[in-house]
Amino acid sequence: MTTNVIIDLTRILQSASLKDTPEQHVQYIVDKISDVIHVNVCSLYLKNSTGDMALVASHGLTTALPVVIPNGQGLVGRVVKSCRAVNIIKPEQHPDYFYVPQSREEQFHSFCGVPMVRLGEVIGVLVVQSKRERILAAEQEAFLSTLASHLSLIVANISIKSNGLPVMNQRYKGLAGSAGVAIAKIKLVKAEQLKDVKEKQGLGIAVETENWLTLHQQVINDLSQEKITVSKSMGDNIASVFDAYVMVLNDPTFSDRIQSIIQEGWSLVTAIKQTVKFFSEQFLAMDDPYLRARHEDIDHLGNKLYQAQLNFLNQTTQNESQHDTLEGPIILMGNQIGVSDILSLPTDQLVGIACHSGAALSHIAVFSNALGIPAVMGLGEINDLQEGDLVVLDGNNGEIIFNPSKSLIKAYNTLIHSKHSLDEKLSALVDLPAITQDGFEVQLMANSGLQADINPGLKSGASGIGLFRTEIPFMSRNSLPSEDEQILVYKQVIDAYKDKPVYIRTLDIGGDKPLSYLPIVNEENPALGWRGIRFTLDNRQILMTQLRAILRAAEGRKNVHVLLPMISTNAELDQCLELMTLVCNQLNVEGIEFVRPKMGVMVEVPAAISLLPFWKYKIDFISIGSNDLSQYLLALDRNNPLVGKLYNSLHPAVISEIQRIVTICKESNLPLSLCGELASDPVAVFLLMGMGVNKLSMSAAKLPLIKWMIRQVTKKDAEEFLQLALKIDDAERIRSLGLQTLQRLNADVNAAYQTGSVS
Ligand code: PEP
Ligand code: MG
Repeated sequence: MTTNVIIDLTRILQSASLKDTPEQHVQYIVDKISDVIHVNVCSLYLKNSTGDMALVASHGLTTALPVVIPNGQGLVGRVVKSCRAVNIIKPEQHPDYFYVPQSREEQFHSFCGVPMVRLGEVIGVLVVQSKRERILAAEQEAFLSTLASHLSLIVANISIKSNGLPVMNQRYKGLAGSAGVAIAKIKLVKAEQLKDVKEKQGLGIAVETENWLTLHQQVINDLSQEKITVSKSMGDNIASVFDAYVMVLNDPTFSDRIQSIIQEGWSLVTAIKQTVKFFSEQFLAMDDPYLRARHEDIDHLGNKLYQAQLNFLNQTTQNESQHDTLEGPIILMGNQIGVSDILSLPTDQLVGIACHSGAALSHIAVFSNALGIPAVMGLGEINDLQEGDLVVLDGNNGEIIFNPSKSLIKAYNTLIHSKHSLDEKLSALVDLPAITQDGFEVQLMANSGLQADINPGLKSGASGIGLFRTEIPFMSRNSLPSEDEQILVYKQVIDAYKDKPVYIRTLDIGGDKPLSYLPIVNEENPALGWRGIRFTLDNRQILMTQLRAILRAAEGRKNVHVLLPMISTNAELDQCLELMTLVCNQLNVEGIEFVRPKMGVMVEVPAAISLLPFWKYKIDFISIGSNDLSQYLLALDRNNPLVGKLYNSLHPAVISEIQRIVTICKESNLPLSLCGELASDPVAVFLLMGMGVNKLSMSAAKLPLIKWMIRQVTKKDAEEFLQLALKIDDAERIRSLGLQTLQRLNADVNAAYQTGSVS
């Protein structure tokens, strides 16, 4: 493509990205294409759920009625089938020509259609047509194909209507925020925003100032109350966001600014609006991405002040009046859902959270996980949904489904019910050991990272915490927690598990877990960069404080272990051991009671495997981090949806490397456990038992089913399956053989999940 065309392309994409909705975005692109390559028509067709191609945007086609080209028909169908451009003149003479009467297409004598492909599938066709007979030049066809690649990423949330009605089972893709499924009506979080309020003169300086002082005190009291409620249900880490709001309110520059605007004769609400705008813009102008994002907190506080002022004046907002009108289960949906939105609903009414913005680790996703409510994040703008619409929210697959068909609702309801009845039946196993029929016992522990998931672990019968991820307490704050603050967090889990083992992992930030208040640079390959132990050894004051906090929280108990993430060299391990010695010496001098804890490494960087024989006298145990081990062995970013379908931890390379680790550990007498997602995959657990792995750590929700499966089989069954699996070259074939074998052994995990019954 020539420079001019590239400039056109960049300009179009940049301007299009400023549009508010995907529909406007796409319309802008089809309009611009027509200008740039001088065609009469540019149209975008998208494949609907039945495979028909529906026209979703057009420049130049006059259609009063929806245009739908049946599956496989017409020139558009030809582009889909061949996955190639069709660039012809006299389309009306082509055998595949499909005439859409209402489109008045007969006036166009040239046609060029290019496929839009996403994740290997043709999802749409971009078509240009001209009255003049002309074959589109190669350069123009290339321009069209390039735009089609961009469009295939943009069109994910465009709804395809047929006959003017929304399509059944319209899917909106987002990101999985919290697992589970819910079927309920939507409640939109659309409280009147402070930014939309008209500016007004005040009722008098004295009145408005007095109103401010009363409001100020009242909101501080409300926030303290909210903090207590949130703290009880979700723990102090999460509730600390309320302290940040109070800090802003108590900052004299905030209050002074409000009062000086009132002095100029403005109303209190106007003064709040102008002050919030001022501070919000200051944060927005900052370079640091974390500080920049704090403008949302200031805006949130502004809306809180505004709502409180409305209540104060005894007015009811639209949002509040709607609380009474929606009965039954509710899915909260909105752009920015706050903790207070969640708390404003009775807990048994709130069954799901759907957020237009955010990602899997946004605060609201963390809250949802802690509360056990399914959540989908990052849905983008969705304009078709209205308050009261029924949707299915699938937190496992990160999508919501609008206008669900009866059969879809039935299928999801069956899933929800069978999950409930399965949970009930499995709860009978809670006090029984995870032991095979021939006496091989597996210790099942829970993964944890929040106060709120400590109890589910205990309730599911976990025999300890096999992985306490310390990142989450660090992430739900605005600054590093002090040693004393960390002690409180670690003590909660240590105390809850009394004498049972607790493995606390040192901070594993970086990569997909940024901690924005720390100086983590933007790296080209963050997963291969300054992550885990590499970061904390370079910032060893953080590691020292954390080790001190863990030892002090343990108060001399021997059940607390320290786990080191991302170790890949001997030098890193030696430095960690030296730091531990230093910490022990410090505590000795300070007269603090402690025991030097057992220390182990996460085996998640493949390089660590070859070093294990050298470490047998240095460390007390290892834990296999199968999530990262798979990511690094397969060269697949575990967070990248574009390669998500390739990420498979049953890949023969992963299985054989785990087998190698197990063999080295046996020879070196090193105790071993596994704490990645593989520990909750029944087929993988069956393989691991075959290798002799007898310690696993997983999310509490998955533990009962794994225990049931273990109790159904024998160690010999597992060994035989492992031998067969080691001869198979494909992950999916290993999985299907595993599932068949489990079914034959009365341990059919899929059937248990789908029917809710276990024998
Ligand atoms: C792992 O990598 O398998 C693991 C347990 O650690 P995380 O998922 O926290 O990286
Ligand atoms: Mg890891």
